[in-house]
Order: sequence, then structure tokens, then C-alpha cells
Amino acid sequence: MIEKRQFYINGEWVDPVTANDHQVIDPSTEEPCATISLGSGADVDKAVAAAKAAFPAWMKRDPAERIAYAEKFLDLYAARQDDMGTAISTEMGAPIDMAKAQQWGAGFAHTKNFINAAKSFQFVRPLGDHAPNDRIIYEGFGVCAMITPWNWPMNQVTLKVIAGLIAGCTMVLKPSEESPLSAMLFAEIMHEAGVPAGVFNLVNGDGAGVGTALTGHEDVDMVSFTGSTRAGVAISKNAAATLKKVHLELGGKGANVIFADADDTAVKRGVMHMMNNTGQSCNAPSRMLVQRDRYDAAVEEAAALASAVTVGSAHESGRHIGPVVNEAQFNKIQSLIQKGIDEGARLIAGGTGRPDGLNRGFFVKPTVFADANNQMTIAREEIFGPVLTMIPFDTEEEAIEIANDTPYGLTNYVQTQDAERANRVAQSLRSGMVEMNGQSRGAGSPFGGMKASGQGREGGVWGLEDFMEVKAVSGWDAKTA
Ligand code: NAD
Repeated sequence: MIEKRQFYINGEWVDPVTANDHQVIDPSTEEPCATISLGSGADVDKAVAAAKAAFPAWMKRDPAERIAYAEKFLDLYAARQDDMGTAISTEMGAPIDMAKAQQWGAGFAHTKNFINAAKSFQFVRPLGDHAPNDRIIYEGFGVCAMITPWNWPMNQVTLKVIAGLIAGCTMVLKPSEESPLSAMLFAEIMHEAGVPAGVFNLVNGDGAGVGTALTGHEDVDMVSFTGSTRAGVAISKNAAATLKKVHLELGGKGANVIFADADDTAVKRGVMHMMNNTGQSCNAPSRMLVQRDRYDAAVEEAAALASAVTVGSAHESGRHIGPVVNEAQFNKIQSLIQKGIDEGARLIAGGTGRPDGLNRGFFVKPTVFADANNQMTIAREEIFGPVLTMIPFDTEEEAIEIANDTPYGLTNYVQTQDAERANRVAQSLRSGMVEMNGQSRGAGSPFGGMKASGQGREGGVWGLEDFMEVKAVSGWDAKTA
């Protein structure tokens, strides 16, 4: 069993101030796979002090030097693909092939996109021709607390840490206690890349302990959080007393609007996207809205597709889906499936209980409900499991109304071959992202939500700017710089 009880503070691995062992459970086996420590306020104090001390020099470094560290990190990260995939697969249950490809790949792509965005970013820029002695300076925001979830661990860690690093921030990362192994490997890579002591620090812990200590700490300037809306609210309140900037990436309940004229693979794309990562994606298209003329065929197709999705151990090679992350999520998903049945939605694939032949591990049946309405619990709550809810609609207006009738606003999806309608609907949807006809967003596109899905954007140039202050300077001597 892996034993990794130390934290990475001020450039070295150090013991926790007070021992507090925590077992990481492998969701494929329900057996412990690692022992880590949960930190305390005292560990947070040490890490924040290190980040605070490192900030003035790091903030003033030439951005090209900070970019060079990110490039060094990227090379080393590429070399550790197998190790990273294995760590992610073991801790949170993504099947090994998927973990090495998609999970690892998300971290690689975000890092590369930040490097590209930063290379053409004007950290010092003129205000305009009318004010030749004015400069607008983009500089690191300060000491950042970065709190990440377990579902796409490297995706979220790189979106925060690499952006903050290039922007000129120093930071303390608290990864999810469910997925600390990938984060500690990430810290090892940052160390190998030679990132100066104190710039990047890692303290493991849970939300109530390290999370609360970080988000209320007087020397933390900004909190960047990804996780549940519940925790986002708690963090905002805790950070308010010290007036921190708070960036939130929260949950979602995406609508996938399939018009009758959508292309032949629209339903398949939607079902497979929903099942990917065992439904544990905040941008999952979890409500499939289908226009009435296409609805019966879509229901039949979705049932067949979901029934054909195989489920198995994360340690086995293949294109199956793995378990969900832990017992609490397993139980929550089971009760929401039961709620769907009780509230009268029609179960057309899956259901409660484990898939046949799987008695141990947090495995959930790929499940589809048809004939739901948007007021049912399964259409309103983020299930965070392989559960799709299908809702019929008649008109474009009705589809937009249903899609927007949710507390969330992260990603919506539109499928139609009518280009004018596609653009019109995209403009009417209240979400930070709209993906149409299976085309994924381009490199460096901003990720983030409206309403209860959060505030702020991550990725590319927007992700960099989020970790920067904007300083306006007048009387600048244009001859010296
Ligand atoms: P969670 O909110 O329970 O935990 C996320 C992180 O926050 C963990 O590191 C946890 O320890 C910490 N945390 C929990 N309570 C805290 C508190 N009061 N103060 C400080 N830190 C606290 O969520 P989870 O179960 O890890 O992840 C699943 C949720 O995250 C889902 O709702 C999902 O939609 C959301 N999510 C959103 C995005 C996005 O980009 N919008 C991405 C991934 C996950």
C-alpha cells in the first residue's frame, strides 16, 4: 500500500504538524490503496507563510521565465503519463486506458494552452494612443488557495496551478482527499521542474479542516475553487470576512437539445458523452431534450446504447466505464435513481443496484429515464453518475425554456442541421458554454459557468487573466521600458 503522509511546503516534503492518517479507498475494490495525512490549520499557516514570502520575487520575475518553468513542467509531465494515469485510475476509478488518455491529456492540453496564450500576452500594455505615458500592468494576484475535486483531477489542478504560476501568483493547493495521489505526483513534477521554493505548496486535507483554514486565512488573497455548489457557498461566506477574490467552478445540469433534423449520430454522441467518466463531469449533457418527431426513436436508441455500455474495474484495460468515486456518491446515485422511478419517469435502461456480476466496488448501472419532465428531481439535481434523463419538447421556444429552467448554467448542447436556428438557440441559452453538433470547443476556450455553476473562467487567456490584478500607471517613462 502507498504511504504518503507528507506535504510539499517551501520546496520540500515535510511531516504534518499533527499526525492524522486518512485512507484513500480504491473504488474498484473498496479496499484502501493509500494512507495520506489530513492537514490542520498549523500546516496551512506554514504553507501560506511560504507562499507569502515567495510572492514578491515571483510576481516580479520576467513572465518569459515563468513561462519557461511551465514548459519544463510540461516536458516532465509528458514523461510521467503512465504514472499519472495509474494514480488517477487507482484513486478515483477512471479506467486505466481512459485515465492515461483523457484524464492525463486534459492536464497536458491545458498546460500547453496556457503556455501558448502567455507567449502572446502583453503583461505591460499601453492604454491607447491618447495616453502615451499610461501603462496597464497585469501582475500576479497574490497568494492563492486552490481547492480541487476528484472527478478530473489533473484537469482542475493544471487549470489553476499552471495559470497561477505563469500569472505570477504563489499558491497552496488542497486537492480532494479522494484524489491526493495524482496531486502529490504533480507536486513531485513541479519540484523536478525547479519551481522556486514557496511558489507552489501542497497540503492535503478535507473541506472542513484545511479547506476552511485556507479560505478564511488572512494572508490568502484569492480562492480558486472547483467542486460542489454547496461548498462554493460555504467558501464564499468564509472568504467574505477578509474580502478575498473568489473564483468558483461549480456543478451543472446541462441540456442537450436535439431537434428533429439533428444528424444521425446526435443521440449516440449525447449518450456516450453522458456515460464518459461514469457521468462524473460537471459539463455532462444530463438532460436530453428531444423534439417530438424524433423522440420515440431517440428513446429506443438511447436505451440500446446505454444497455450496451460495459462497466468494470478501473484496473482493466478497455473501453468500459469504471465505478463511481466512493460509497457516498454510490448511495446518492442509487437514491436519485429510485426517486426517478418513484416520481414517475420511465426507466428504459439500468436502474438501482450493481450491474450483474459486480458485487464489490462502487459500480452503477448505466441508466436512462424517458418521459421525464423538468420539475422531477432527476431533471433538477446534479446526479454525478451515469444517469441520463430524457424529456420531449415541441417547439424551439419550449426547448430554450426547459434548457434554461435550472439553477445551473455551465454547458448546454444543441443538435440541428439548421444553422440559423443553431446560432439563435446558442444565443438564448444561459450557460457559460454551448457546444453544437458535436464540435468541441477549441484550444484555449474559456471554461466556466453562469448562475449556480459559478463565476469566473478558466483556461487560455481568460484563465490567465483571472489570476492577475490590473494596475493602471500614469506618467510612465516610455524611454526606459
Ligand atoms: P466537493 O465540493 O465536496 O469537494 C470539492 C473540493 O472542495 C474538495 O477538495 C473538498 O475537500 C473541498 N471542500 C469541500 N467542502 C469545503 C469547504 N466547506 N471549504 C473548503 N473546501 C471544501 O465536491 P466533490 O464531491 O469533490 O466534486 C463533485 C462536485 O464538483 C460536483 O457537484 C461537480 O459538478 C463539481 N465540479 C464542477 C466542476 C466545474 O468546473 N464547474 C468541475 C468538477 C466538478
